[in-house]
Amino acid sequence: MSTSKNNIHEFLARIPKTDLHVHLDGSLRVSTLIELAKSGNIELPSYTEAGLNELVFKDQYKDLMDYLQGFGYTVSVMQNPENLERIAYEFAWDNFNEGVRYFEVRFAPQLHINKNQSIEDVVTAVNKGLAKAKKEFNEQPAVLSEKEPPANYAIIACAMRAFFPGMSQFYDTILEVHRFSKSKKIFSLASVELVEAMIKARDELELPIVGVDIAGAEEGYPPEDHKEAFDIAHSNFLKKTVHAGEAYGPESIFQAITLLHADRIGHGYYLFSYDKIKDNSIIDKEKYVENLAQFIADRRITIEVCLTSNLQTNPEIGDICNHEFRKMKAARLSTTICTDNRTVSKTNVTREIELAVDTFDFTEIELRNSIIYGFKRSFFPGTYKEKRVYVRKIINYYEKLQKEYGRI
Ligand SMILES: [Zn+2]
Repeated sequence: MSTSKNNIHEFLARIPKTDLHVHLDGSLRVSTLIELAKSGNIELPSYTEAGLNELVFKDQYKDLMDYLQGFGYTVSVMQNPENLERIAYEFAWDNFNEGVRYFEVRFAPQLHINKNQSIEDVVTAVNKGLAKAKKEFNEQPAVLSEKEPPANYAIIACAMRAFFPGMSQFYDTILEVHRFSKSKKIFSLASVELVEAMIKARDELELPIVGVDIAGAEEGYPPEDHKEAFDIAHSNFLKKTVHAGEAYGPESIFQAITLLHADRIGHGYYLFSYDKIKDNSIIDKEKYVENLAQFIADRRITIEVCLTSNLQTNPEIGDICNHEFRKMKAARLSTTICTDNRTVSKTNVTREIELAVDTFDFTEIELRNSIIYGFKRSFFPGTYKEKRVYVRKIINYYEKLQKEYGRI
């Protein structure tokens, strides 16, 4: 066996991977952002990759709010179908090129609605780009001959926890016509509108929209504002994943599961942080956290872990060694490693898995299970039987690579 065949980095690059938590608007190629901004006369703080990497897409951020700044620029070039299609197409290829075989890409369609494009136009354009890349990938000889498993993807639509004037033409309009309503009410209304639109897009346009999420700043904007929307999603068999416990305590995770029917949790970083509980009705905070962790583990509610992103939005974590993933792993929680944002976090799936493996002592079987778990816990856009066939192909290919690299 040659040394290179034992090379873990090469192995991790080649194995079939998933990304179940990745934002399209946080994953644009910087070169594309510059090109589209120039042609659309959109102002950027710099028109060079180096300049943008220094000013916007940084290695370190102050907090979640600082981290979210870059989205203002990316979203501004995602306002017509041609750009959306191109960005989605490049995104899919960036994933396929590093061995991601299945991704669930998320974005907030309402951020892209304007006078010239409806919500149907937005999701159709994104899907067009993704479908084109998938078709190209799956027409390669290695896939056609079934030597390698095909690529697949699905779309998750994000509602925004909160929105403000200037975020998009859609949000401006909804705020304008509800000038006297409480903001909570308007956030709720926008989420309901989104979910209804996504059910239609799935059923009538036959787009692979499989789930909904809520994204944006967490503190001060509780999940309960979106309960009605998530009830509708739930009754219509859309899956639910919710950003929770990213910048707020365990009760936010609890609400995501109990009020919003979350099948998966985005980040869940502060799951064990009983000291962050602000709800005074919870007396025994340690016991509460323990019960919550047990519940999540037992129900197999999967936590979408984004290591680099967590370090960037919560600088107080300091070193990756202090990341709560250690506790999640020890508690045998169902987890899957994700990027969150390829560009904003300057990472990719291979690098995130490498970081996890290097830091948290994965055994061979733990690594395998963790990778396969991403496929199993996906909101696969097909029947359960089809999903099982797909996962089986992935496992066979994974095991073939394990043998090739002398790992079993
Ligand atoms: Zn996220």
